[in-house]
Amino acid sequence: MKTVGHLIGGKIVDARSGRTAPVTDPATGEHTADVLLAGGEDVDLAVAAATEAAVEWSRSSLATRTRVLFAYRELLDRHRDEIARLVTAEHGKVHADALGEVARGIEVVEFACGIPQLLKGGASHEVSTDVDVREIRQPLGVVAGITPFNFPAMVPLWMFPIAIACGNTFVLKPSEKDPSAALRVAELMAEAGLPPGVLNVVHGDKVAVDRLLEHPDVAGVSFVGSTPIARYVYDTGTRNGKRVQALGGAKNHMVVLPDADLDLAADSAVSAGYGSAGERCMAVSVVVAVGGIGDELVTKIAERARSLRVGPGEDPSSEMGPLITAEHRDRVAAYVPQARAQGAEVVVEGTAGDGHFVGVSLLDHVTPEMDAYRDEIFGPVLSVVRADTFADAMRLVNASPWGNGAAVFTSDGAAARLFEQEVQAGMVGINVPIPVPVAYHSFGGWKASLFGDSHVYGTDSVHFHTRGKVVTTRWPAPAVRGLDLAFPSSSGS
Ligand code: NAD
Repeated sequence: MKTVGHLIGGKIVDARSGRTAPVTDPATGEHTADVLLAGGEDVDLAVAAATEAAVEWSRSSLATRTRVLFAYRELLDRHRDEIARLVTAEHGKVHADALGEVARGIEVVEFACGIPQLLKGGASHEVSTDVDVREIRQPLGVVAGITPFNFPAMVPLWMFPIAIACGNTFVLKPSEKDPSAALRVAELMAEAGLPPGVLNVVHGDKVAVDRLLEHPDVAGVSFVGSTPIARYVYDTGTRNGKRVQALGGAKNHMVVLPDADLDLAADSAVSAGYGSAGERCMAVSVVVAVGGIGDELVTKIAERARSLRVGPGEDPSSEMGPLITAEHRDRVAAYVPQARAQGAEVVVEGTAGDGHFVGVSLLDHVTPEMDAYRDEIFGPVLSVVRADTFADAMRLVNASPWGNGAAVFTSDGAAARLFEQEVQAGMVGINVPIPVPVAYHSFGGWKASLFGDSHVYGTDSVHFHTRGKVVTTRWPAPAVRGLDLAFPSSSGS
């Protein structure tokens, strides 16, 4: 049985010295590997390696960093298919979707290649006679990333390339459910020329996370996962004096106005609702049909949903793969009879199958009191809520405790603009169902979808991973000497 080990100080540690967890192929349910679960002492070793490496890496030239990042970008490009296959083998998503996640990860590396431009800082010349001010940004030191199962390659790539480009060293704690892709992308960083210890990977569960959150040498933590854990990580990390950004769960609404192109809206709802089996934080899970279009829209969505081909991720004809675990499959499947009992109409019913498969479900006439509406299901269950007016739809969307993504489908520019202006969400799509920002804009939600004040990747990430320093200089040395206890001011001198 394969063992997925830690990467500490440039070496793979795969001797089993403590706890392990099984990794399964979600298409078959077969146990394919064991992943090591770090204890506190393993985390301490990784943080020690990162602390030692930080001495040199924080002083490395921008030329050195960009050389590594450009080489890394080329290696990732060459290994796209291999990484995507690792994702499919442990996560279950179809190969084309896995390739998409690798591509979005590579875009972040491409952004990080521009780090010299991003770290240029500001300068003001002659703020007072012979006095100049420069603003520089310096790395935090050792930072950590804790990532979810649903994008096992992309979410780590959201974090460490920019953190490392900024001169930090990194400890990554990937999801223990599908750890191999994260380990592989980290190994490629070493092949690209990154010195040992700059990027470390420890696998594990709550034990490893808790040690990272309390470790005195960890200066910052980026987290992506479910809302309860995001809130816990934010509270615990900040209480321990760390800078934390913690992205949580979601329940993304797609509002369809009566003037929308209903075929486009139906295609978009099905692609964004059932893609990756609904296991995306930007999945559309609620369609809000406004006015009298509900019946026609539901018919169009149902036709498309029934035609989806569900099968193993490595089968090129599959459009949707299985769910991550058998427990999750059963939890997701249970929402459908429960919604029926609570008064929803089950238009398409997906049931649990072999492996971790569950078919797609479409629920109509869902109301905000139902569990299917209230919970983040994180599976292929799409709910349709009927709203009489645009204003009712806006009220519904804005009453959600989450605020990750929200979309509107319309041909009315003024309505779209009003939606953009008023909606309580961090990422907004106008005739775009999954508005995941490109790498040079940052990604993040509002409300219970993000704890902290900076989003991930893009310029927010550069800011998060650096501390500002403002340097005031006077050359030549002041001609006028002597004591002056007044507060320094530039006026008159
Ligand atoms: P999760 O919260 O269960 O796990 C995320 C990470 O936290 C994993 O590394 C896990 O090992 C660790 N963890 C789990 N339980 C913990 C505990 N009790 N204490 C400390 N650490 C713990 O999330 P998941 O199931 O892996 O991922 C799915 C969730 O992630 C969904 O809610 C989804 O919406 C969310 N997500 C959000 C975004 C975003 O950008 N907002 C992106 C992807 C996924």
